[in-house]
Amino acid sequence: MNRNDKLLIAGMLLASALFFAFFGTWSRETGSTAVIIVDGETMDTVPLTKDGDYSVEGLLGESIIRIRDGAVTMEQAPCPDQICVKHSRIRYSGEQIVCLPGRIIIEIQGGTQTQTNGEPVIDGVAK
Ligand SMILES: [Zn+2]
Repeated sequence: MNRNDKLLIAGMLLASALFFAFFGTWSRETGSTAVIIVDGETMDTVPLTKDGDYSVEGLLGESIIRIRDGAVTMEQAPCPDQICVKHSRIRYSGEQIVCLPGRIIIEIQGGTQTQTNGEPVIDGVAK
């Protein structure tokens, strides 16, 4: 990893921190599921209500995702930076843990307010 990579990652962390500082106060909705995305493809959807460890095959090898008390952490990962492992627990809809080298994204979904694309969840609309 060179200096530019580090700057990029620092910038992304700062951007997401700012995002949550601005929007977090009103959009914090506890999620119901963790969506595991590897290399752009959804591999698994795991309910946050079920404690457990889940193995995910990323580009670098096996990572372990842990669900405890409705929150998600990256427990183990083969990536050199370990940024995903050091990431704090996520539990609110729209929060993510990203492993850039392993191309793994863990994303919380299922809150009642907004989806991750920013569009409101419309429930039970019938015609
Ligand atoms: Zn990682």
